[in-house]
Amino acid sequence: MQATAEQPSMIRWYYEGLSAGVYRAIKCADCGKLTFPPTGCCEHCGSWNVEGVELSGEATLLFASHNITPACHPRFEKIAPYVYGHIQLKEGPIAQAIVRGVDPTPEDLQALFEKGPVPVQAATLQMDDLPVIVFDIKA
Ligand SMILES: [Zn+2]
Repeated sequence: MQATAEQPSMIRWYYEGLSAGVYRAIKCADCGKLTFPPTGCCEHCGSWNVEGVELSGEATLLFASHNITPACHPRFEKIAPYVYGHIQLKEGPIAQAIVRGVDPTPEDLQALFEKGPVPVQAATLQMDDLPVIVFDIKA
């Protein structure tokens, strides 16, 4: 897909993929870097010369923390407390997302920290209104 300045279509394209378990970013034709989550233009150089790409969903959890208060939206209040992490996608971009497979307790987070960085895999958490990307810790 060739991205244009039509941001709503890029956002729709991202969420349609997410609903189907397909993880998408945009790749810049000028600098070659990926932007995730996708926006209308490259976050590295500002170019609008971008195209959609699919991601493997493979990633590495760099750091995780529990959320003291959930993100200020009812969709997140329903699943709190949860663990939130910094995740480096195999393809390069670093994202922040919910992490599953660890309890949001100080003991479990410390054990995870001492073990890390750990491999994670993208998954789709279907909320009432929108799908949300999450990352599962690989066993
Ligand atoms: Zn660029």
